[in-house]
Amino acid sequence: MKNIKDYNIDELKQELIKLGEKPYRAEQIFKWIYQENVESFDEMTNLSLDLREKLKQNYSLCIYKILKKQVASDGTIKYLFDVLDGNAIETVLMKYHHGYSLCVSSQIGCRMGCKFCASTGIAFVRNLSSGEIVEQLLAVQRDEKIKISNVVFMGIGEPLDNYDNVVNAIRIINNQKGINIGARHISISTSGVVPKIYRLAEENIQCTLSISLHATTDEKRSSMMPINNKYNIKELITACKDYIEKTNRRISFEYALAKENNDNLEDAKRLVKLIKGMLCHVNLIPINKIENGKYDKSSNENILKFRDYLNEHGIVATVRRELGSDIDAACGQLRRKNLT
Ligand code: SF4
Repeated sequence: MKNIKDYNIDELKQELIKLGEKPYRAEQIFKWIYQENVESFDEMTNLSLDLREKLKQNYSLCIYKILKKQVASDGTIKYLFDVLDGNAIETVLMKYHHGYSLCVSSQIGCRMGCKFCASTGIAFVRNLSSGEIVEQLLAVQRDEKIKISNVVFMGIGEPLDNYDNVVNAIRIINNQKGINIGARHISISTSGVVPKIYRLAEENIQCTLSISLHATTDEKRSSMMPINNKYNIKELITACKDYIEKTNRRISFEYALAKENNDNLEDAKRLVKLIKGMLCHVNLIPINKIENGKYDKSSNENILKFRDYLNEHGIVATVRRELGSDIDAACGQLRRKNLT
């Protein structure tokens, strides 16, 4: 059965026309799904019984079941959802002073094979559909009775490797009649799928782009992130410059500091050279040690020296606060190990 949450509002209008219904019904249905967050078509009480019946016969509402919910000491919550086909995914809710931020998964498994990432240990299974991405927000909002204010595509999967479904999910999340989260509060994190960065720049979506950079030489980056063998640092930075020029949006460079790997002053100097003058920000991430991972966390002293060097040379850099690390919910720690 088709998942009704896979359709953006224009597509849903077309679906209703196919059912012999008026297209404006799509707006009513959107309101029920995304604003009222209903769990059945029967709750859509301003639709005729006949239309509700047609919807039931043709579509599912894709309501996730919570398989596991872990709450960290800092309030971060990691969900394990049953995606209704025997697979499961992880989604993480983080509480900040400015609101709730949700880290969503975009694929079951990942093809990218970054060496510092726990998801790497699990083979790629499939892409999530737009509706399966969006349902992560709805399921958490239902469970915690909250309104999510920020979404980051930083869970399991490479969002730009599932480009069409991710972009469509963003259109639903961003739509005023949908979940209505401003595009500037939606962030896509990529390992550097260069052709898709160029494509995203043309989409007219004002979302934030985060680039997992993590190294300043091709040799080192390729050893950490195999995608660098396909699209090297120079090509990546050129694509980022194009994104900034077309969207006028600031790019965030993610840089996970690993002890004696990429955390010395020479790395900081090369980083400054690479991105100086760009509309950007650097997020320094104390790397999280993972099971079988070969990287260790940098010392606090090195992290602060690295940050200070960037700041002193005109690059805005901050050290990311670690949330949820006691439940393996911090960056790079999500995986499907509990899922089967
Ligand atoms: S860091 Fe992201 S892109 Fe890299 S393997 Fe992990 S999930 Fe995939």
